[in-house]
Amino acid sequence: MSSECIFCKISNKEADAEIVYEDNDVLAFKDINPAAPVHILVIPKKHIPTHQEIKEEDAHLVGKMHLILSDLARAFELNHDGYRVVVNCGQHAGQIVYHLHFHLLGGRPLDAMSSVRGG
Ligand code: AMP
Ligand code: ZN
Repeated sequence: MSSECIFCKISNKEADAEIVYEDNDVLAFKDINPAAPVHILVIPKKHIPTHQEIKEEDAHLVGKMHLILSDLARAFELNHDGYRVVVNCGQHAGQIVYHLHFHLLGGRPLDAMSSVRGG
């Protein structure tokens, strides 16, 4: 728990979000500024700042998050047309919130990775 972290606050119900999935370890909620018709963030309740801070002991948790991403993709009917899972790590990726999260994006054709790659 990090007292200034917005995703810890959402996890503790100190801040609002449109929650679409919750269990003891994982929370999923709609992105406040969606980049696609479906844009969900899947977070661990545990405060892990970045992808680089995932430890061996978190391996089960991160695997479980991927199963939840897959289930949510089906629940939001993205499984037939496809979807993208994104994690931004650090400054060059434009990470804004320093609490690990996986973006689940879909509901329209997404830009090719060549444009994500940039110049
Ligand atoms: P990033 O750290 O770059 O991977 O992106 C953080 C994402 O969190 C952005 O897509 C924001 O729109 C989203 N976001 C920030 N604050 C909130 C919030 N309070 N509720 C829902 N989504 C948020
Ligand atoms: Zn946090």
